[in-house]
Amino acid sequence: MTLVLDTHVDFPWPTTPDPAGDTTRQVDFPKMTRGGMGAVVLIAYVAQGKRDAESRAAARARADGMLARIAADAQNPVGPARRFCRTADEMEAAHAAGALAILAGVENGHAMGGELAALAAFRDAGAIYMTLTHDGHNDLADAARPRPTLGDGPEEHGGLSDFGRAAIVEMNRVGLLVDVSHASKPAMLQAAKLSRTPVVATHTACRALVDHPRNLDDEQLDALRAVGGLCQITAVGAFLRAGAEASMVDYLDHVEHSVRRIGIDHTGLSSDFDGGGGFIGWKDASQTAAVTAGLATRGFSAREIGLLWSGNFLRVMRAVEKAAL
Ligand SMILES: [Zn+2]
Repeated sequence: MTLVLDTHVDFPWPTTPDPAGDTTRQVDFPKMTRGGMGAVVLIAYVAQGKRDAESRAAARARADGMLARIAADAQNPVGPARRFCRTADEMEAAHAAGALAILAGVENGHAMGGELAALAAFRDAGAIYMTLTHDGHNDLADAARPRPTLGDGPEEHGGLSDFGRAAIVEMNRVGLLVDVSHASKPAMLQAAKLSRTPVVATHTACRALVDHPRNLDDEQLDALRAVGGLCQITAVGAFLRAGAEASMVDYLDHVEHSVRRIGIDHTGLSSDFDGGGGFIGWKDASQTAAVTAGLATRGFSAREIGLLWSGNFLRVMRAVEKAAL
């Protein structure tokens, strides 16, 4: 049976004490079960703030707290059977045992608090990936969407900073996947080139279809294919359709564009639920089977649907794990 993996879901923070019983979230464990989902990457998200010592320390503390909470919730006996997973093998074993696989990621290199050593700590806490930036330039790289309220101009580093380059080297060393979602085009292309392992955009869409700064243009898609990386099409309405409400048709159009441009082996799926994702037809995890059904109506085979949902991501996870050994 296809392992249905959503590679980007925000974890609410502060959160309620009973995540299995909090029905306000788009993704909770019962909804995952109802939607036929097998795995999710829950995100310790840190908004870009000022870059002074106090803000850096607060960002790091928040990320550490969220990662600990994601692991604890995955091990809470309330609700559907689940396991906290740190590797591709653990994810597949959980699925084979009938348990939901819960993984963790970090969104925004600002969470490092300015310290390279944070990356090993994030990996030790179970994180499998980190986005270099969120919205707003940071110590590592320029963002696709600068934040003028933080004093951002269009560009600060011309892509990656020296610290950002060092962070990518360290991410390769400790086995953290490099997520280029939210990075500027120069930063994304430089990261793809520098990283020893394939980079991934865990939640994005195609700029050839919608001219949104968070979307990847065809040159960026080609760069992902060139390094063995992945474009994970996400369910954020504004990325999928300009000026009107997005639907499953739009979502599937972006998936098809990526597959036509760079191939079935370099495309994947994510929702960005609880972080801005969702459209009529796929508004929470319980409706995830509708995506699988939609892919089938577009002519994707069961094997191809398996690659899109998890096969490709598992391949990249293994490459990252192996390179870290
Ligand atoms: Zn994001």
